[in-house]
Amino acid sequence: MRITNKYGLSRSRVNLAYHQMQRPTENILRATELIDAPRMRMLKLRHWDEIVIDCTDVGANSIYGSMKHLLVAGAVDSGYLSEVKLKWWTNEDIIEWISGTPDLYDKESQIIEDNKWTKTWKQVYRWEDDGDQFRDWEEQLNVYAWLLRKVMALDTNQLVINVSWMDWTAYRVDPNKNNYPQRPDERKIMSLWDNNKQQLYVLDRLHRHISATHKDNTPLPLCTATERWAKKDKWAVMKKGRKSALSVVLSEQNANEILEKTPEATSIEYRKGADKRCVDYCIVNQFCDYWRDTYAKD
Ligand code: SF4
Repeated sequence: MRITNKYGLSRSRVNLAYHQMQRPTENILRATELIDAPRMRMLKLRHWDEIVIDCTDVGANSIYGSMKHLLVAGAVDSGYLSEVKLKWWTNEDIIEWISGTPDLYDKESQIIEDNKWTKTWKQVYRWEDDGDQFRDWEEQLNVYAWLLRKVMALDTNQLVINVSWMDWTAYRVDPNKNNYPQRPDERKIMSLWDNNKQQLYVLDRLHRHISATHKDNTPLPLCTATERWAKKDKWAVMKKGRKSALSVVLSEQNANEILEKTPEATSIEYRKGADKRCVDYCIVNQFCDYWRDTYAKD
Protein backbone atom coordinates (compact mmCIF):
# COMPACT_ATOMS: atom_id res chain seq x y z
CA MET A 1 0.00 0.00 0.00
CA ARG A 2 1.20 3.48 -0.84
CA ILE A 3 -0.03 6.45 1.20
CA THR A 4 0.06 9.78 -0.65
CA ASN A 5 0.05 13.27 0.87
CA LYS A 6 -1.82 15.39 -1.70
CA TYR A 7 -2.48 18.26 0.69
CA GLY A 8 1.01 18.63 2.19
CA LEU A 9 0.20 17.53 5.73
CA SER A 10 2.97 16.79 8.21
CA ARG A 11 5.01 13.60 7.96
CA SER A 12 3.64 12.50 11.32
CA ARG A 13 0.10 12.53 9.86
CA VAL A 14 1.25 10.34 6.95
CA ASN A 15 2.95 7.97 9.38
CA LEU A 16 -0.25 7.84 11.42
CA ALA A 17 -2.16 6.81 8.31
CA TYR A 18 0.37 4.01 7.59
CA HIS A 19 0.04 2.86 11.16
CA GLN A 20 -3.75 2.61 10.86
CA MET A 21 -3.80 0.47 7.73
CA GLN A 22 -3.46 -3.17 8.68
CA ARG A 23 -2.30 -5.60 6.01
CA PRO A 24 -4.54 -8.68 6.08
CA THR A 25 -2.93 -12.03 6.83
CA GLU A 26 -4.05 -15.02 4.77
CA ASN A 27 -4.19 -17.57 7.59
CA ILE A 28 -5.63 -15.27 10.28
CA LEU A 29 -9.19 -13.93 10.21
CA ARG A 30 -9.62 -10.97 12.53
CA ALA A 31 -12.99 -10.50 14.24
CA THR A 32 -13.55 -7.26 12.30
CA GLU A 33 -12.84 -9.12 9.03
CA LEU A 34 -14.97 -12.11 10.00
CA ILE A 35 -18.09 -9.93 10.33
CA ASP A 36 -17.32 -8.08 7.08
CA ALA A 37 -17.39 -8.90 3.37
CA PRO A 38 -15.22 -11.83 2.14
CA ARG A 39 -14.78 -10.07 -1.24
CA MET A 40 -13.18 -7.03 0.39
CA ARG A 41 -10.77 -9.14 2.42
CA MET A 42 -9.76 -11.17 -0.62
CA LEU A 43 -9.21 -8.08 -2.79
CA LYS A 44 -7.02 -6.62 -0.04
CA LEU A 45 -5.04 -9.87 0.15
CA ARG A 46 -4.55 -9.95 -3.62
CA HIS A 47 -3.82 -6.25 -4.20
CA TRP A 48 -2.45 -4.81 -0.94
CA ASP A 49 0.80 -3.58 -2.51
CA GLU A 50 -1.06 -1.87 -5.40
CA ILE A 51 -3.51 0.12 -3.25
CA VAL A 52 -2.90 3.88 -3.32
CA ILE A 53 -4.72 6.03 -0.78
CA ASP A 54 -4.27 9.59 0.43
CA CYS A 55 -3.52 10.08 4.12
CA THR A 56 -6.59 12.35 4.41
CA ASP A 57 -8.78 9.42 3.36
CA VAL A 58 -7.61 7.36 6.32
CA GLY A 59 -10.52 8.35 8.49
CA ALA A 60 -10.11 10.57 11.52
CA ASN A 61 -12.61 8.34 13.36
CA SER A 62 -10.27 5.37 13.05
CA ILE A 63 -7.24 7.44 14.17
CA TYR A 64 -9.03 9.06 17.10
CA GLY A 65 -10.64 5.73 17.94
CA SER A 66 -7.14 4.25 18.34
CA MET A 67 -6.12 7.20 20.50
CA LYS A 68 -9.15 6.64 22.70
CA HIS A 69 -8.19 2.95 23.04
CA LEU A 70 -4.70 3.95 24.19
CA LEU A 71 -6.00 6.49 26.71
CA VAL A 72 -8.58 4.13 28.14
CA ALA A 73 -6.07 1.26 28.31
CA GLY A 74 -3.83 3.52 30.42
CA ALA A 75 -6.66 4.38 32.81
CA VAL A 76 -8.08 0.94 33.62
CA ASP A 77 -7.75 -0.68 37.05
CA SER A 78 -6.77 -4.26 37.87
CA GLY A 79 -10.41 -5.40 37.76
CA TYR A 80 -10.24 -5.31 33.97
CA LEU A 81 -8.52 -7.39 31.35
CA SER A 82 -7.42 -4.76 28.86
CA GLU A 83 -6.69 -5.36 25.16
CA VAL A 84 -6.20 -9.08 25.68
CA LYS A 85 -5.20 -10.72 22.39
CA LEU A 86 -7.29 -13.82 21.65
CA LYS A 87 -6.58 -16.45 18.98
CA TRP A 88 -8.61 -19.58 18.30
CA TRP A 89 -7.29 -22.46 16.18
CA THR A 90 -9.87 -23.29 13.49
CA ASN A 91 -8.42 -26.66 12.43
CA GLU A 92 -8.88 -25.56 8.79
CA ASP A 93 -6.21 -25.40 6.08
CA ILE A 94 -6.60 -21.91 4.66
CA ILE A 95 -7.74 -19.78 7.56
CA GLU A 96 -6.05 -21.34 10.58
CA TRP A 97 -6.87 -18.74 13.22
CA ILE A 98 -9.66 -16.44 14.28
CA SER A 99 -8.34 -13.53 16.32
CA GLY A 100 -9.77 -10.61 18.24
CA THR A 101 -8.85 -8.07 20.88
CA PRO A 102 -11.70 -6.83 23.08
CA ASP A 103 -10.89 -3.43 24.59
CA LEU A 104 -11.97 -4.31 28.12
CA TYR A 105 -13.34 -7.28 30.05
CA ASP A 106 -14.57 -6.61 33.58
CA LYS A 107 -13.54 -9.75 35.48
CA GLU A 108 -16.10 -9.38 38.27
CA SER A 109 -19.21 -8.35 36.37
CA GLN A 110 -18.14 -10.30 33.24
CA ILE A 111 -18.94 -7.38 30.96
CA ILE A 112 -17.17 -6.82 27.65
CA GLU A 113 -16.71 -3.13 26.82
CA ASP A 114 -15.57 -1.73 23.50
CA ASN A 115 -14.74 1.93 22.92
CA LYS A 116 -15.87 3.57 19.68
CA TRP A 117 -15.29 7.05 18.35
CA THR A 118 -17.63 7.70 15.47
CA LYS A 119 -19.93 10.15 13.75
CA THR A 120 -23.57 10.70 14.66
CA TRP A 121 -24.78 9.45 11.25
CA LYS A 122 -24.21 5.95 12.64
CA GLN A 123 -27.19 6.51 14.93
CA VAL A 124 -29.24 8.94 12.85
CA TYR A 125 -29.17 7.03 9.56
CA ARG A 126 -31.37 3.91 9.24
CA TRP A 127 -30.24 1.15 6.92
CA GLU A 128 -32.86 0.18 4.37
CA ASP A 129 -32.73 -3.59 4.71
CA ASP A 130 -33.58 -4.00 8.37
CA GLY A 131 -33.01 -0.64 10.00
CA ASP A 132 -30.43 -1.99 12.45
CA GLN A 133 -27.50 0.39 12.19
CA PHE A 134 -25.68 -1.17 15.14
CA ARG A 135 -25.67 -4.72 13.81
CA ASP A 136 -21.90 -4.67 13.09
CA TRP A 137 -21.15 -3.64 16.70
CA GLU A 138 -23.43 -6.36 18.02
CA GLU A 139 -21.76 -8.98 15.81
CA GLN A 140 -18.24 -7.84 16.73
CA LEU A 141 -18.91 -8.00 20.47
CA ASN A 142 -20.59 -11.40 20.23
CA VAL A 143 -17.51 -12.68 18.39
CA TYR A 144 -15.38 -11.37 21.29
CA ALA A 145 -17.65 -13.12 23.79
CA TRP A 146 -17.27 -16.34 21.77
CA LEU A 147 -13.47 -15.94 21.64
CA LEU A 148 -13.22 -15.27 25.39
CA ARG A 149 -15.18 -18.44 26.08
CA LYS A 150 -13.22 -20.58 23.61
CA VAL A 151 -9.73 -19.30 24.43
CA MET A 152 -9.89 -18.35 28.12
CA ALA A 153 -13.03 -20.18 29.37
CA LEU A 154 -14.50 -16.84 30.45
CA ASP A 155 -18.27 -16.24 30.36
CA THR A 156 -19.88 -12.95 29.44
CA ASN A 157 -22.93 -11.36 31.05
CA GLN A 158 -23.26 -8.17 29.05
CA LEU A 159 -21.93 -6.40 25.96
CA VAL A 160 -21.35 -2.66 26.12
CA ILE A 161 -20.21 -0.07 23.58
CA ASN A 162 -18.82 3.16 25.07
CA VAL A 163 -19.40 5.50 22.17
CA SER A 164 -18.04 9.04 21.77
CA TRP A 165 -19.82 10.98 19.02
CA MET A 166 -17.03 12.94 17.30
CA ASP A 167 -19.29 15.46 15.49
CA TRP A 168 -21.86 15.86 18.28
CA THR A 169 -23.21 19.37 18.88
CA ALA A 170 -25.65 20.45 21.60
CA TYR A 171 -27.79 22.56 19.25
CA ARG A 172 -28.97 19.45 17.33
CA VAL A 173 -30.33 17.74 20.44
CA ASP A 174 -34.11 17.52 20.45
CA PRO A 175 -35.68 15.65 23.38
CA ASN A 176 -38.69 14.83 21.18
CA LYS A 177 -36.52 13.06 18.60
CA ASN A 178 -34.52 10.28 20.12
CA ASN A 179 -32.43 9.33 17.05
CA TYR A 180 -29.90 12.15 17.52
CA PRO A 181 -27.65 11.32 20.52
CA GLN A 182 -28.65 13.22 23.63
CA ARG A 183 -25.09 13.39 25.00
CA PRO A 184 -21.56 13.41 23.43
CA ASP A 185 -20.72 10.12 25.19
CA GLU A 186 -23.13 7.22 25.59
CA ARG A 187 -23.10 3.69 26.94
CA LYS A 188 -24.95 1.33 24.64
CA ILE A 189 -25.97 -2.19 25.58
CA MET A 190 -25.71 -4.64 22.68
CA SER A 191 -27.79 -7.80 22.47
CA LEU A 192 -25.89 -10.81 23.88
CA TRP A 193 -26.61 -13.99 21.90
CA ASP A 194 -26.70 -17.43 23.47
CA ASN A 195 -23.64 -19.68 23.06
CA ASN A 196 -25.23 -21.72 20.28
CA LYS A 197 -26.10 -18.67 18.19
CA GLN A 198 -22.57 -17.29 18.62
CA GLN A 199 -21.04 -20.61 17.58
CA LEU A 200 -23.27 -20.97 14.49
CA TYR A 201 -22.62 -17.38 13.47
CA VAL A 202 -18.82 -17.60 13.77
CA LEU A 203 -18.59 -20.92 11.90
CA ASP A 204 -20.92 -19.72 9.15
CA ARG A 205 -18.86 -16.55 8.66
CA LEU A 206 -15.60 -18.55 8.77
CA HIS A 207 -16.81 -20.88 6.02
CA ARG A 208 -17.99 -17.98 3.86
CA HIS A 209 -14.50 -16.53 4.06
CA ILE A 210 -12.86 -19.90 3.40
CA SER A 211 -15.01 -20.53 0.32
CA ALA A 212 -14.02 -17.09 -1.03
CA THR A 213 -10.32 -17.87 -0.61
CA HIS A 214 -9.50 -18.99 -4.13
CA LYS A 215 -6.60 -18.53 -6.45
CA ASP A 216 -6.48 -15.31 -8.48
CA ASN A 217 -9.19 -14.67 -11.09
CA THR A 218 -11.81 -16.95 -9.55
CA PRO A 219 -15.06 -14.95 -9.24
CA LEU A 220 -15.53 -13.73 -5.68
CA PRO A 221 -18.93 -13.68 -3.94
CA LEU A 222 -20.48 -10.24 -4.37
CA CYS A 223 -20.72 -8.10 -1.25
CA THR A 224 -24.30 -8.06 0.00
CA ALA A 225 -26.47 -4.95 -0.18
CA THR A 226 -25.79 -4.37 3.52
CA GLU A 227 -22.04 -4.73 3.00
CA ARG A 228 -22.20 -2.29 0.07
CA TRP A 229 -24.25 0.19 2.16
CA ALA A 230 -26.73 0.11 -0.70
CA LYS A 231 -29.51 2.64 -1.09
CA LYS A 232 -32.34 1.62 -3.41
CA ASP A 233 -33.79 3.74 -6.23
CA LYS A 234 -36.69 5.82 -4.93
CA TRP A 235 -39.50 7.99 -6.25
CA ALA A 236 -40.57 11.06 -4.28
CA VAL A 237 -44.05 12.52 -4.63
CA MET A 238 -43.63 16.30 -4.49
CA LYS A 239 -45.82 19.37 -3.94
CA LYS A 240 -44.99 22.65 -5.72
CA GLY A 241 -43.40 25.17 -3.35
CA ARG A 242 -42.46 22.56 -0.74
CA LYS A 243 -38.89 21.27 -0.43
CA SER A 244 -39.56 17.96 1.34
CA ALA A 245 -41.47 15.14 -0.34
CA LEU A 246 -45.07 14.29 0.56
CA SER A 247 -44.14 10.65 0.23
CA VAL A 248 -41.11 8.56 -0.83
CA VAL A 249 -41.69 5.07 -2.27
CA LEU A 250 -39.71 2.28 -3.91
CA SER A 251 -41.60 2.01 -7.23
CA GLU A 252 -42.60 4.48 -9.92
CA GLN A 253 -45.99 2.83 -10.23
CA ASN A 254 -46.67 3.31 -6.53
CA ALA A 255 -45.59 6.96 -6.80
CA ASN A 256 -47.98 7.51 -9.74
CA GLU A 257 -50.85 6.02 -7.75
CA ILE A 258 -50.14 8.41 -4.85
CA LEU A 259 -49.88 11.35 -7.27
CA GLU A 260 -53.32 10.55 -8.72
CA LYS A 261 -54.97 10.14 -5.32
CA THR A 262 -53.40 13.20 -3.61
CA PRO A 263 -54.84 16.55 -4.75
CA GLU A 264 -51.90 18.68 -3.48
CA ALA A 265 -49.25 16.43 -5.14
CA THR A 266 -47.86 18.01 -8.32
CA SER A 267 -44.94 15.91 -9.55
CA ILE A 268 -42.70 12.87 -9.10
CA GLU A 269 -38.96 13.11 -8.54
CA TYR A 270 -36.66 10.13 -9.28
CA ARG A 271 -33.89 9.60 -6.71
CA LYS A 272 -31.22 7.23 -7.92
CA GLY A 273 -29.90 4.73 -5.38
CA ALA A 274 -26.23 3.92 -4.95
CA ASP A 275 -23.81 1.67 -3.12
CA LYS A 276 -22.36 4.25 -0.76
CA ARG A 277 -19.47 2.13 0.41
CA CYS A 278 -18.42 1.04 -3.10
CA VAL A 279 -18.46 4.62 -4.35
CA ASP A 280 -16.92 6.52 -1.43
CA TYR A 281 -15.31 4.23 1.13
CA CYS A 282 -14.05 0.94 -0.32
CA ILE A 283 -10.24 1.08 -0.67
CA VAL A 284 -10.22 -1.86 -3.10
CA ASN A 285 -13.01 -0.69 -5.42
CA GLN A 286 -10.60 -0.19 -8.34
CA PHE A 287 -9.90 -3.96 -8.26
CA CYS A 288 -13.57 -4.95 -7.96
CA ASP A 289 -15.44 -5.96 -11.13
CA TYR A 290 -18.78 -4.95 -9.56
CA TRP A 291 -17.53 -1.38 -8.98
CA ARG A 292 -15.94 -1.23 -12.44
CA ASP A 293 -19.13 -2.45 -14.18
CA THR A 294 -21.48 -0.28 -12.12
CA TYR A 295 -19.61 2.96 -11.45
CA ALA A 296 -16.33 3.28 -13.35
CA LYS A 297 -18.18 4.13 -16.59
CA ASP A 298 -19.98 7.11 -14.99
S1 SF4 B 1 -16.47 -2.02 -4.42
FE1 SF4 B 1 -18.35 -2.63 -3.35
S2 SF4 B 1 -18.76 -4.74 -4.03
FE2 SF4 B 1 -16.61 -4.26 -4.51
S3 SF4 B 1 -15.43 -5.00 -2.76
FE3 SF4 B 1 -15.86 -2.83 -2.41
S4 SF4 B 1 -17.76 -2.82 -1.19
FE4 SF4 B 1 -17.58 -4.85 -2.11
